[in-house]
Amino acid sequence: MRIETDLKLGFKDVMIRPKRSTLKSRSQVSLEREFKYLHSTTKWVGIPIMAANMDTVGTFEMAAELAKHKLFTAIHKHYSVLDWNVFLASAPDEIYDYIAISTGTGKNDFKKLIEIISAHPQLKFICIDVANGYSEHFVTFLKQTRKQFPDKVIIAGNVVTGEMVEELLLAGADIIKVGIGPGSVCTTRIKTGVGYPQLSAIIECADAAHGLGGHIISDGGCTTPGDVAKAFGAGADFVMLGGMLAGHTESGGELLEVNGKKFKQFYGMSSTTAMNKHVGGVAEYRASEGKTVKIPFKGDVVNTIWDILGGLRSSCTYVGASRLKELTKRTTFIRVSEQENRIFTNE
Ligand code: 5GP
Repeated sequence: MRIETDLKLGFKDVMIRPKRSTLKSRSQVSLEREFKYLHSTTKWVGIPIMAANMDTVGTFEMAAELAKHKLFTAIHKHYSVLDWNVFLASAPDEIYDYIAISTGTGKNDFKKLIEIISAHPQLKFICIDVANGYSEHFVTFLKQTRKQFPDKVIIAGNVVTGEMVEELLLAGADIIKVGIGPGSVCTTRIKTGVGYPQLSAIIECADAAHGLGGHIISDGGCTTPGDVAKAFGAGADFVMLGGMLAGHTESGGELLEVNGKKFKQFYGMSSTTAMNKHVGGVAEYRASEGKTVKIPFKGDVVNTIWDILGGLRSSCTYVGASRLKELTKRTTFIRVSEQENRIFTNE
């Protein structure tokens, strides 16, 4: 046994220190980024915020709306080949820049991935997603996927440490998804004691990835637009959101009405609800590692998007970053023991 005594930090442990700035207004801030990838020759331009590949968030409806604003959606892996055919038949050409097809690492997953990409070779992004990106099987699957699709942009995760980021990049990934345990409907830290505070995970993994020419996605733990700004400030190239995009018209999950109030169901992809829905129940050898919650219906996602983008532009203005690209360079985090004033949080 060994103990690392460095204190690792989450979003709640820091704030961004304001800096002198020549920017007059947040309207002068550009949130678009342009990326070239380590393996794929695809170039990408957009606002690097992503809807999570959860069946309540990474829906086709979400993708259609987010793409209009140049935001990205990792489409969840439970759509059938037919669902994909129907969606892509009526989607605009630009959609291919703003969606990834997600896959697990089983034999049938690989078959389905090949089937969908053969039918729609314009798909550019593949997201290989497992709860624990440290397994050898995962690395083997990643290598096999890279061999099969030499020019697709491959997203792989999730991990939280630099050495594994490097291994996945060398095995063929372009973008590494970072986050174990910070998610809003995740119970991994409770069930297993395993995890890594998200801000430190981003800082350490971004450093490892950027050293090799790779990119990272900060996945999970953002509860406010301020957290999204902190994730970018820490070095994330993309920020992935689950809970913040759940509960909208475009989100999946049942719409419920309780005492005249509307709610939408939201659940983790390893929750009992998800396992009952997709794999016929929770297998005996495993525990559910996700929550099922009811969230007040939030209406159309476009309003939430404006709120997040407005907050992020404002963060950039506070530190004098005229482009999102400059935010990390201009960020100084201060360690804090307070966040917002919560006296009116129930209003
Ligand atoms: P959020 O933005 O809601 O805080 O986090 C979203 C992320 O939580 C997802 O992208 C995914 O990585 C993670 N997640 C989703 N469902 C589950 C689950 O059931 N268990 C765990 N451990 N993580 C989950």
